[in-house]
Amino acid sequence: MNKEEKYIEYYEKGIKIYEKEEFKDVISEKRLLNIKNCYNEYLYWYNHSEWLHRIFRCKKSACPVCNLKNKAIKFYNFKDRAFELMKEYEVFCLTLNGNNVEIEANKIIKEIDDNNKNLKKLLNRPFMKRIVREYFKVTEIKYTNYDSLPHIHIVLFVIKGVYKHFKINELRQLITQEWKKSKGFNANVELKKVGTQKKLEKTINYLTIAKKKQLTALFNNTNALKTHLEVIDRKRLFVWSRD
Ligand SMILES: [Zn+2]
Repeated sequence: MNKEEKYIEYYEKGIKIYEKEEFKDVISEKRLLNIKNCYNEYLYWYNHSEWLHRIFRCKKSACPVCNLKNKAIKFYNFKDRAFELMKEYEVFCLTLNGNNVEIEANKIIKEIDDNNKNLKKLLNRPFMKRIVREYFKVTEIKYTNYDSLPHIHIVLFVIKGVYKHFKINELRQLITQEWKKSKGFNANVELKKVGTQKKLEKTINYLTIAKKKQLTALFNNTNALKTHLEVIDRKRLFVWSRD
């Protein structure tokens, strides 16, 4: 299957799911119509290759194809900005786990807010303020069939002189201690150096367009899909420190 055929399949599967009664409160009639228009336009373009018209797309985050395209645009923009910053800074990738919570929008949002509050506290600690100059934060929610795990991936741009202050192990320990203390449980923390452009590109790819994180990956878990659509409607999942 080529890319175009795959997109058509995503549209058709997505629309079929969104037409179900249980999605009525999450996807309004108007939004569903937007997505159907987006699909029809795509289909027309696909069947009329002579058509030089620019394709309309709905750009809605609930649209299985536009969601993908929106993230692809993010990938390219973030990559350019990160490559530029890499000339000036060392790059680390930090993962901070929250609590596992039920698949329920309000509970997930509460946990995301708690993670963000504690991240702010962490970044305000003197040992972090001394070294971190910019960051790119991605909020992710990992779903299973019965629960979800809201967590943070954050790409940190730190001063080149960071190693005069700490070894990476010492920094990892300080962050881990701080995070576990503020979350109040033995939360998982990972800190990795991103040493090359290639690794940075891979990291940003993983954070934006990795296949297992796409909307379509939730098509077989409609409860998670429904909840996730509510969450992304209410929360910004991609944030630069200086936006
Ligand atoms: Zn669309």
